[in-house]
Amino acid sequence: MKKLFSLLLVLVVLALVVGLSFLFFFKLEGQPPVLEKVVLREPLGKKAQATLVLFDKRSGLREVKIYLKQGKQEKLLFERTYPVDIVWGSKTKAQELKVSFEPLKLGFRSGKARLILAARDASWRNGLKGNTLIWEKEVLLDLESPRIVVLSPIHYLVPGGSNLVVYKISEPVRRQGVVINGRPFKGYQLKGYPHKFFCLVALPIDQKEISHMYVEAEDLAGNVSRLPVAYYVRKKRYRHDVINISDAFLKRKMPEFLERYPDIPRDDLLKAFIYVNTVLRQKNNQEIAQIARHSKIAEFYVDKPFLRLPKAATRALFGDHRTYYYHGRKIGTAVHLGLDLASVARAPVPAAATGKVIFADYLGIYGNTIIIDHGLGLFTLYAHLAGFSVAPGDLVKRGQLIAYTDTTGLAGGDHLHFAALVQGVFVEPIEWLDPHWVKTRVLDKFKAPTP
Ligand SMILES: [Zn+2]
Repeated sequence: MKKLFSLLLVLVVLALVVGLSFLFFFKLEGQPPVLEKVVLREPLGKKAQATLVLFDKRSGLREVKIYLKQGKQEKLLFERTYPVDIVWGSKTKAQELKVSFEPLKLGFRSGKARLILAARDASWRNGLKGNTLIWEKEVLLDLESPRIVVLSPIHYLVPGGSNLVVYKISEPVRRQGVVINGRPFKGYQLKGYPHKFFCLVALPIDQKEISHMYVEAEDLAGNVSRLPVAYYVRKKRYRHDVINISDAFLKRKMPEFLERYPDIPRDDLLKAFIYVNTVLRQKNNQEIAQIARHSKIAEFYVDKPFLRLPKAATRALFGDHRTYYYHGRKIGTAVHLGLDLASVARAPVPAAATGKVIFADYLGIYGNTIIIDHGLGLFTLYAHLAGFSVAPGDLVKRGQLIAYTDTTGLAGGDHLHFAALVQGVFVEPIEWLDPHWVKTRVLDKFKAPTP
């Protein structure tokens, strides 16, 4: 009897020990929630965001509150409570919280503030209130959008034309540029012109109107400003041209493409030509737009009009709308995106302006092609060349020999196809060859005093 009583006692004590251990380990645990990660983009702007990762492994999360405090002002940004079971605690052991808030609308001002997080867990400690984590961080609020001042006067543009927009921005920016009809052009900063941005822009040849043109800047806090730019679009007519494709031309030119491109239809030379003139032309133009998009050099090397191929006749213009015929049958259309200049066969080709060679290779319909970066997103392209006298990476001077003319690619006779691009847009090279245009649209803007 005594033995049984002792055994019972031991069992009761054991149960008590287990129960109390459970209670202390799980229900009265003393570990507050842990803030594992905070992602903040600082300074905080008009539209601020914070991502916080919290966990409480034992009793789970009971409540989270986030405040922003500046001087005497304190606002609750976020509050969440989690269901708590009296025996099992909270099921929420971990949480990722994304908090969005607009400090300006909540009445805060630019300057220092404190971000405060208070989190409680489901422990029975502190009279069932749980363990509390208090976390604080000093943050900087920037609630002002960047101020933009456009320095260049009204900007005249034609479809296919370029211009230079100059502006100032009141504070450091994450990105800036000019947007025309939804297309962004990047502004560049140049040595010797503190606080100024230079943005070469272009109106693509297939756009006859501008629906909007503005400078856009985003500061480090993500505040965005837009300022309209004054512009005037001049009409421009482009020529219409007929090109007859002969059997002799097909026999002479198509093998060059069949040899290089396995996708070209091989059973019929006319089919091959149509493929080259449409699919390959488009592909090549996209490739060029990609290569000639952003300048990798920190200078602008153009201080004179472009140098034209010497003693050459102009055979075709930028923007010529060409219709192709074969034995009187229309077989396609294309817009000519450069100037065709013909001199003697194998004429030496000079660089139109100082710059860095960024491409020297075979490029489909353009044959052997050189592309030069002149800075500010301005590029020149030389096509149908015999070979290359320069290589990518070379810095070439205006007038320096870069290659000789030839008929590589889709060229009927020996000539230079000369093109210009502004941030990936093919532009009218004649503007850049015209001394008056280059002076008034571009060079004078570097001399203009800053107000
Ligand atoms: Zn051409």
